[in-house]
Amino acid sequence: MTSRVSRVAVLFAVVLASIVPRVVAAAPRTPEIDVILWFDTEDYISPSDDEADKRLAEMLSERKIRATFKVVGEKARVLERHGRQDVIAALKKHCIGFHANFHSVHPAPAEYLADCGLLDGMAEFARREGPGAADVRRVFGVPSLACYGQPGSSWASQAIAAEPMCGITVDGVPCYVDSGDHVGMGGVPFWYAGALVVYDMHPNETRMDLFAPGGLEKGEKEFAAIAHRLAHEGGGLISIFYHPCEWVTSQFWDDPNFRRGANPPPEQWKLPRQRTPQEAERAIRRFADYIDAMRSTPGVRFVAACDLPKLYPDRLMTEGASPGEVLELAVACCGRTYRVSMMKPLAARSSRPPINSRYWRWPWRGSSTARRTRTRRASWRSDCSAPIRRRRAKGG
Ligand SMILES: [Zn+2]
Repeated sequence: MTSRVSRVAVLFAVVLASIVPRVVAAAPRTPEIDVILWFDTEDYISPSDDEADKRLAEMLSERKIRATFKVVGEKARVLERHGRQDVIAALKKHCIGFHANFHSVHPAPAEYLADCGLLDGMAEFARREGPGAADVRRVFGVPSLACYGQPGSSWASQAIAAEPMCGITVDGVPCYVDSGDHVGMGGVPFWYAGALVVYDMHPNETRMDLFAPGGLEKGEKEFAAIAHRLAHEGGGLISIFYHPCEWVTSQFWDDPNFRRGANPPPEQWKLPRQRTPQEAERAIRRFADYIDAMRSTPGVRFVAACDLPKLYPDRLMTEGASPGEVLELAVACCGRTYRVSMMKPLAARSSRPPINSRYWRWPWRGSSTARRTRTRRASWRSDCSAPIRRRRAKGG
């Protein structure tokens, strides 16, 4: 009797052991929704901006959230000159990026790079902006900066390629974080000019209005809708950006000084319109409520620019790319299918077959194929100029 009972117990245990892992494995995993929260820290004219930097950094640190503060070179120097070690210490608990040397002082990057090619443009960017990046590194005591993002609409491809020349890398990987639509992949991070880029994140970019009545409710609703959609898509990244000066001034600091090409000397710089401290504090509290609403959303976690290379490792460096992947990328970029005849695999060790082998023809199949190839390659080049579009105005 005892042996029968023990046999039944063993059988039950075996059956249970075979079921339980399946149940655990079958339980739906909450998709990861990453939120990158970044601040262009740039107003070096208003002393009130220093207070906003500190208040925001501390409010987020209290919540154990690491944000990304992209600091302008002159802003770092001003904090140092004013002896604001308290502000520097508060910001330093977050990820420190770079936001140009003088931001809106002309010529801005897109102005001085407009007639440059790639290599001379990279050298020019490093010559003009490198000292600012070095100052941000020195003032904040960090060996490298997590990312760069352009001042205002002053986007330039050479700037992205030149990031490593200015000490802007995370574990050797240059990152670019900003908002605009010069280049993009429809709301996901991508690789461009050797950098990991968070740009053109619509429809996964959102923000709440800090001052408008009902702004918090509208902002929470918009965030919840994006998070809900991404959860059904298996996860993704949401980009949210602000400028600390938005809390303390009712116009951007560069608007009364550098608008439409104006370039007054420092002694003529004007203070932008200031908000009252009470108004700023109410907006900070509203923003904290917005952050708390995000934190309570299932699956949401906050990430910073410093985390990007780990979140999006460059598989090309470790696994190579199959011919099919190269073809898929080309088709995705150009928006249509075409035949590739002269392409060779990038990585000989990759054994994955092309995605659709009927699009593959090799040169040894005859001269007529080679002629068709030349024609199609020419048209492919002209199609690829299409993604370069005019950008929406970002401000700041
Ligand atoms: Zn800016």
